[in-house]
Amino acid sequence: MKIVNPATEEVVADVELADAAEVDRAVERARAAYATWREVSPGDRARLLRAFARQVEEHAEELAQLEIANAGHTVGNARWEAGNVRDVLHFYAGAPERNHGKQIPVPGGIDLTFQEPLGVVGVIVPWNFPMVIMMWGVAPALAAGNTVIVKPAEWTPLTALRLAELALAAGLPEGVLQVLPGAGEVAGARLVDHPAIAKIVFTGSTEVGKQIAAKAAGQVKRVTLELGGKSANIVFADADLAKAAASAPMAVFDNSGQDCCARSRILVERSVYPEFLERLTRAVQELKVGDPRDPDTALGPLISAEHRERVASFVSEPHFQGDCPAGPGFWFPATVLTGTEDRAYREEVFGPVVSVVPFDGEAAAITIANDTPYGLSGSIWTRDVGRALRVARAVEAGNLSVNSHSSVRYWTPFGGFKQSGLGRELGPDALAAFTETKNVFIASE
Ligand code: NAD
Repeated sequence: MKIVNPATEEVVADVELADAAEVDRAVERARAAYATWREVSPGDRARLLRAFARQVEEHAEELAQLEIANAGHTVGNARWEAGNVRDVLHFYAGAPERNHGKQIPVPGGIDLTFQEPLGVVGVIVPWNFPMVIMMWGVAPALAAGNTVIVKPAEWTPLTALRLAELALAAGLPEGVLQVLPGAGEVAGARLVDHPAIAKIVFTGSTEVGKQIAAKAAGQVKRVTLELGGKSANIVFADADLAKAAASAPMAVFDNSGQDCCARSRILVERSVYPEFLERLTRAVQELKVGDPRDPDTALGPLISAEHRERVASFVSEPHFQGDCPAGPGFWFPATVLTGTEDRAYREEVFGPVVSVVPFDGEAAAITIANDTPYGLSGSIWTRDVGRALRVARAVEAGNLSVNSHSSVRYWTPFGGFKQSGLGRELGPDALAAFTETKNVFIASE
């Protein structure tokens, strides 16, 4: 497959796609590697993961530049992402030596629990944050003693392939981490169907996630699902409006809106709605859309011409639309909508399009925020601590922020309520998603 730079439309690489037979061979290699990897001592496994993290650190700029060329990420984002990949590896490198079981008091003997690895894990990755999302699955899976096969998204395999090379350079044994570019319906589907794959970590659309969950159910295969979102950014009249309005554009337009946590519905208390809309429009006007290598750029291109067409199909009567380059490159302007009848208000656009609507009172804000099948993230802007707590507890979403739009810290849990997902990544608990608890009773008489 020809891999294209979305900012220039130039071909940057030619990548071979794996078919189902190649997936089967990779599973064989992963199974063979598992037999030894699970026996590697915790200290040695930790050392290898730290060496992998150091390789990432040494090649951070190269990885960032690859992500810019392949996914069109802004340079600031791409550098943050390379740092996140390193940090996630360091964080889970601390896990092998702390992956303890329990000793539970029982009459007539002792009872022990063991946290055992699952076996071979398949990690299926989307194109919007290729290297970080890959590593959120890979690092805890390897730390827990599993071996891993990654299937990157068709459009964005380059950082995943480079990370696999860096793993080998760090000394990870062959077969412990494999990366197989391939089509979702071919290589991805084979990973899901393969009886020797113990678990699938899938990040992508809710539509494909449901198909994967249904297929996995046939084998009671373990799944972690990180799916779509339609998150709310709730602005109360008592909020610091200047701050809320300054923060709102990048809460949805970061990565050109191709972000599962995008706060793509801004709900504003009616008394401050006109002022907020004016401030927001001014802030959006100032966003620079263009060359992702320029540090002043806020929005790079969309991933493909096809995706741009899909995003454009959501916009008919914008309240405000910024500028963007004409091309080459898959550009789309930052767009503000104010209607509640258009599809953009209900569906995930996955582009730089936001709907801004007024609400009356706290209860209505909560009802509107929860009136969606999704539940991934959201923000609450208020100076009233009690209200912040009440609303944060009432909104059905996995990652909320108050007076902020930050969603991801690798040492805290991340994941969705409702149709935004199943299970949690990151944080200390993610390790449990890659182990099976075994209970052993030993009679003393
Ligand atoms: P997608 O569902 O089209 O593809 C995701 C991955 O699944 C790709 O690697 C694709 O090749 C593969 N795939 C497709 N069909 C498959 C099948 N039948 N069997 C197995 N694998 C298959 O999603 P996308 O367009 O790449 O990504 C955008 C979506 O991802 C958005 O909905 C976004 O919200 C979601 N997302 C969620 C999170 C999260 O953490 N919740 C993070 C990033 C992206």
